[in-house]
Amino acid sequence: MGCVAALVAILLGLAPSAACGGLETGAERPPRPAVVAKAEPLAGRTIVIDPGHQLGNHNFPEEINKPVPAGGFTKPCNTTGTATSGGYPEATFAWRVSLRLKAKLEKLGARVVLTRKVNSEKRWGPCVDRRGRAGNKIPADLKISVHGDGSYAAGARGFHVIAPTDRAPWTDDIFAPSRRLARLARASLLKKDVPVANYIAGGDGLDFRSDLGTLNLSDIPTVMVELGNMKNAADARLMTTPKGRAAYAAALARAVRIFLR
Ligand code: ZN
Repeated sequence: MGCVAALVAILLGLAPSAACGGLETGAERPPRPAVVAKAEPLAGRTIVIDPGHQLGNHNFPEEINKPVPAGGFTKPCNTTGTATSGGYPEATFAWRVSLRLKAKLEKLGARVVLTRKVNSEKRWGPCVDRRGRAGNKIPADLKISVHGDGSYAAGARGFHVIAPTDRAPWTDDIFAPSRRLARLARASLLKKDVPVANYIAGGDGLDFRSDLGTLNLSDIPTVMVELGNMKNAADARLMTTPKGRAAYAAALARAVRIFLR
């Protein structure tokens, strides 16, 4: 086939049988310009977000009261969580903040794993042992458990961050990085003008606990954030508005970003 014949063949959708200069379909193409990778600071990172409680836990008392391993002792599978005086549930607050945080971290390039997939009155769990082990196998880079507190103490308000204690053989391996993550979470929340808890011993917004299965069973750096006291009217205003929840999520995303830098 000549060059003209080959051109006709191509126009007709047929494969030309002979090479013909620039018309040859298998001709080498010039190299593509190098693709400039978009800066994704959390690319390759995996983060577990644990939205505390399940909305339907109160409908399944038998299931959530069943004892499960919690780090050298047993504890009930889960609790119902708290709610604002107006009835806005902690489970829904934790769920919404977690979804916002997930979106922010994914935008930064991270892979995000949630410990529960829905916020539903028809579901319960997972239990604290599963929440505690979540991310261990992957292994994920860190885990944040999102909660709201329910203190009836007069005037009690503000956030606090709970990290595991230095306790072998459970949390001695994650104590130091978890404390660092806790400090970053505290600094980031303060930067967003979220007040520090005025009702937790120490008064610095940090609490170290050895009684929480969610922290004890983790092999990856982890903290539990009590972002506010849902029984306090000022905290509840923050926790029940999209603006408030956006501030919590932005603060936690900043902490993650700096922690993994
Ligand atoms: Zn909680």
